[in-house]
Amino acid sequence: MIAPHKTITARSCGTCTLCCRLPEIEEFDKPANIPCRHCMPGTGCAIYADRPSGCRDFFCLWMSDPDLPDEWEPAQSNLMICRHGQQMTVLVDPEHPDVWKAEPYASGLNAMAKKAATSGGYVIVFVGDEIVKIPPA
Ligand code: SF4
Ligand code: SF4
Repeated sequence: MIAPHKTITARSCGTCTLCCRLPEIEEFDKPANIPCRHCMPGTGCAIYADRPSGCRDFFCLWMSDPDLPDEWEPAQSNLMICRHGQQMTVLVDPEHPDVWKAEPYASGLNAMAKKAATSGGYVIVFVGDEIVKIPPA
């Protein structure tokens, strides 16, 4: 999902393709952490004009929430965050499995979990087969 994405904020996807690799995508029968068969790393989506609506409408949290600081940019942080109702889902690039435990992300995730908990929400981190619920700080 490379620019020319129209962004909600002033941010753009650049050369990031994490959302084409990290999540499971049922309509393509794509498992998590395997690139979509249409993804061309460094270039973008091979079927960009005809990509399905799920791709067309998707923005990760960094692209849609200007309150998320710049250092959470997926291409830089190796983390992709998205909301699923009350769940804040954090997908960690398995090539950088410990990045979420390092700063500024560890503190950031704790703060995120604390804020989410005030409205019944929670934060879940997925690293390969490992699933971790972040306790509210
Ligand atoms: S993970 Fe976010 S920044 Fe990266 S391509 Fe997807 S929407 Fe764009
Ligand atoms: S179809 Fe294109 S935009 Fe959608 S996941 Fe595959 S490569 Fe990414």
